[in-house]
Amino acid sequence: MSAKGNNQFNHRPRKRFGQHFLHDQFIIEKIIKAIDPVPEDAMLEIGPGLGVLTQPLLSHLDELHVVELDRDLIGKLQVHFQDVDKLVIHSHDALIFDYCQVMAGNKKIRVVGNLPYNISTPLIFHLLDQISCIEDMTFMLQKEVVDRITAKPGGKDYGRLSVMIQLQCETKKLFDVPANAFSPPPKVISSVIYMKPYKKIPWNIKNLDDFAKIVRFSFAQRRKTIRNSLKSLSEDLSWLDKTEIDLSKRPETLSVETFSRLANAFTEKKL
Ligand code: SAH
Repeated sequence: MSAKGNNQFNHRPRKRFGQHFLHDQFIIEKIIKAIDPVPEDAMLEIGPGLGVLTQPLLSHLDELHVVELDRDLIGKLQVHFQDVDKLVIHSHDALIFDYCQVMAGNKKIRVVGNLPYNISTPLIFHLLDQISCIEDMTFMLQKEVVDRITAKPGGKDYGRLSVMIQLQCETKKLFDVPANAFSPPPKVISSVIYMKPYKKIPWNIKNLDDFAKIVRFSFAQRRKTIRNSLKSLSEDLSWLDKTEIDLSKRPETLSVETFSRLANAFTEKKL
């Protein structure tokens, strides 16, 4: 669909739904190429909007699911794609959507989209909760969030989001997208990121909930040392002695591997 094609929807972008519609054909093609859809993929697009990614995706696929919250857009998509049987439109909130239901048999789903930026972090955490149903994810996000997702320990970008995603996925920033590729243009630069869940997490985690808890407590106050942050979890920290981790460090200096040792010691203490 061309930018001109979008006009036929006659839609006024809504800020509260984070609506910034892509109109740069070169960028649209670059994203489709990065996704590299093949007919048998089980694919789901979050936030199809006016369908600028939906349309080219459909031309490669046997079936495509989309999840859209804006009822107004849903109506327009239903009319525009009324003869397209292979498109399944879910009028739903992506933040609480059950992604596993879309899995056809054992085939994991590929999740894609130019995400609504105002909900990108909770949305990614929601997807992480259902990671066993996901083959891979290709998303447009604010560049700042992509930098946080891919950050290595030691810098200001490294935090809970980086650790929780990097524990479970291989991450790769693909390319930046300027604000003028969208209408209306967002205030920030965007980036496209690829995330591929590991078949098996490369760290030996005894309990993922404990890992998530340790990471959450550790980063609750970034400027505090690990010792001080974890004290609000457990007054006596002697269970950490054998890990030989320097507790005077700040959370942003710890690798995913170090967090996994912290978390495993916590799980063992409880057993
Ligand atoms: N993919 C389109 C639109 C991106 S804008 C394009 O690239 O042009 C983000 C889209 O996400 C909008 O269509 C918006 O209505 C939708 N959206 C916002 N919040 C959502 C939510 N919670 N669940 C599903 N879709 C949502």
